[in-house]
Amino acid sequence: MMVTEYNDPGYRPMSMLNLAGFLSRSAVNGPGIRAVVWVQGCPFRCEGCFNGQFQSFSPATLVDPDDLARAILSIPGIDGVTFSGGEPFAQAGPLAELGERLRRAGLSVITYSGYTTEQLAEGNDPTWPALLAVTDLLITGPYVAGLAAPDPLKGSANQQVIALGTRIPVPRKAACPAGAGSRMEFTIAPDGTVTTTGFPTPALVTEFSSRCGGS
Ligand code: SF4
Repeated sequence: MMVTEYNDPGYRPMSMLNLAGFLSRSAVNGPGIRAVVWVQGCPFRCEGCFNGQFQSFSPATLVDPDDLARAILSIPGIDGVTFSGGEPFAQAGPLAELGERLRRAGLSVITYSGYTTEQLAEGNDPTWPALLAVTDLLITGPYVAGLAAPDPLKGSANQQVIALGTRIPVPRKAACPAGAGSRMEFTIAPDGTVTTTGFPTPALVTEFSSRCGGS
């Protein structure tokens, strides 16, 4: 007899996760210190997308959600995990399975999506409700470069921040520390790989590029 830790009789093991990137600790992807899971593949083509290399649906790193859950739960002192991309709702099944494991262990889940709130509510993909059910804070809507504005949780003013649970209240912008509205974070791995993340304004990206000799 196969035994799972899931009580839902409708539970079925889901597919592998196509992972674009992973960071064990970040301070700029939501409140607190969070692991970040970037998925590979996005149906949108937002002008000015910060993660253009994550748009292709080609296989990147395929991981078992259960293995990834164990890896995340071994990270000490984190408050939760943030699902970003790419488009998390294009892989809602395995992310829901991952989020379920993490929330059971007490972590919170933030999920980003290029879909609008209305599209997610009206969509008929059967895996979407499962991901919504394990999401504490949902940020919806495509990135619109013309509406870019300093904000600790989103890239452009059209995006919505919605609390679906009680683990993460929607942060009040006025309560954010000075400068928190537009931050970039650089993480250097032992092998020298640099991960750049955050919600920088186009002006901050331009300034960074010029100071580093980029184009
Ligand atoms: S939804 Fe996000 S990942 Fe997809 S193209 Fe837009 S900004 Fe890039």
